Amino acid sequence: MRIVLLGAPGAGKGTVAKLLTEYDGSVQISTGDILRSAVKQGTELGLKAKTYMEKGELVPDDLILEIIEERIKAPDCEKGFIFDGFPRTINQAQRLKELLKSMNLKLDAVINLDVPKEVILDRLTTRRTCSNPDCQEIYNIKSKPPSPDGRCLKCGWPVIQREDETEEAITKRLEVYNEKTAPLIKYYMEEGLLHNIRSLSSEEIVKEIIKILSESGNKTC
Ligand code: AMP
Repeated sequence: MRIVLLGAPGAGKGTVAKLLTEYDGSVQISTGDILRSAVKQGTELGLKAKTYMEKGELVPDDLILEIIEERIKAPDCEKGFIFDGFPRTINQAQRLKELLKSMNLKLDAVINLDVPKEVILDRLTTRRTCSNPDCQEIYNIKSKPPSPDGRCLKCGWPVIQREDETEEAITKRLEVYNEKTAPLIKYYMEEGLLHNIRSLSSEEIVKEIIKILSESGNKTC
């Protein structure tokens, strides 16, 4: 499958993307995870992205498109990819369309995870993330806690609250989402690719996405 998961921070894109990868071998491409890993490793990309990320602002489109182009040309993307947190602006969406066209590819669907604002705020403040750059498993202190001593159940690294998940940064990220990313819903509706899903359960959302893809004739479903 080649899909985009749209939705505010905390809508559940990462969790849904991870579940979908188990379905047909498509890979998850999370620009947030790639950037956090680069910051942690102190690479040139990480140094450029760090200040934007800490403030909850968007990293410039040129940097993001460079990451995406390199990533989707990698051999493991042949079976498909699930974009999680990309595109975030109309310009990124237009440039993605051109890039895919140059590779003779196109998106199968764009899924908008439509989650009420109160749920988003609650999820973001209670969310914790594994600090291992290669794992980044997501936890929630209420619904999916890590081990009693605060470690990742998968890899054993400490589970932390992300720097951009303070109340101030969350408010900023939601503002940026409303201003820059929410317009993508209309953009993809006009492209005839948008499907809105309102469910709160990741398993239900995954089932719905598989159904949408099989109805639209995706051969891998
Ligand atoms: P996320 O984990 O997707 O919420 O991303 C965390 C942060 O990384 C965002 O607040 C942005 O600073 C940056 N980021 C991730 N993806 C993008 C993107 N597609 N465009 C611009 N900035 C991004």
